[in-house]
Amino acid sequence: VKYDGGMKKDRRTLLKSLRLKATPARLAMLDVFALSSKPINAEHISERLKGLKVDHVTVYRTLASFEEKGIIKQVDLRKGSVYYELQEGEHHHHHLVCTDCGKVEDFDACEVGAALPGILKKSSFKAVDSHSLELFGLCRKCFAS
Ligand SMILES: [Zn+2]
Ligand SMILES: [Zn+2]
Ligand SMILES: [Zn+2]
Repeated sequence: VKYDGGMKKDRRTLLKSLRLKATPARLAMLDVFALSSKPINAEHISERLKGLKVDHVTVYRTLASFEEKGIIKQVDLRKGSVYYELQEGEHHHHHLVCTDCGKVEDFDACEVGAALPGILKKSSFKAVDSHSLELFGLCRKCFAS
């Protein structure tokens, strides 16, 4: 993650640079994202913000504005609700997802960039600016049981 949640000044600078007011809900949600090593959903965020009296509508609205501004992106974990994580900046990675227990793990060995020129050449596309890649299967524990 490029945004360091440990630095309170950064959160305000980030919001300001995107013309978003630094409300307590936005600051707190940035923190929740910065402290999460896995993609999270609205429910998870509401749970973490319990003490702050942030209602669900605010959480959803804030998620929408963060996504629109490119702070976070959706990750499709096939879990029936929308998951998000911080835009990665330098740390490009993908996910392994266990379809049995739901475990999510990152991996950063990505060959897509290297394969892209060939992929584009064989397609009708001129440019690709991002990609998502999630792998679904069984973790070792679930495979063994
Ligand atoms: Zn991730
Ligand atoms: Zn599993
Ligand atoms: Zn990749």
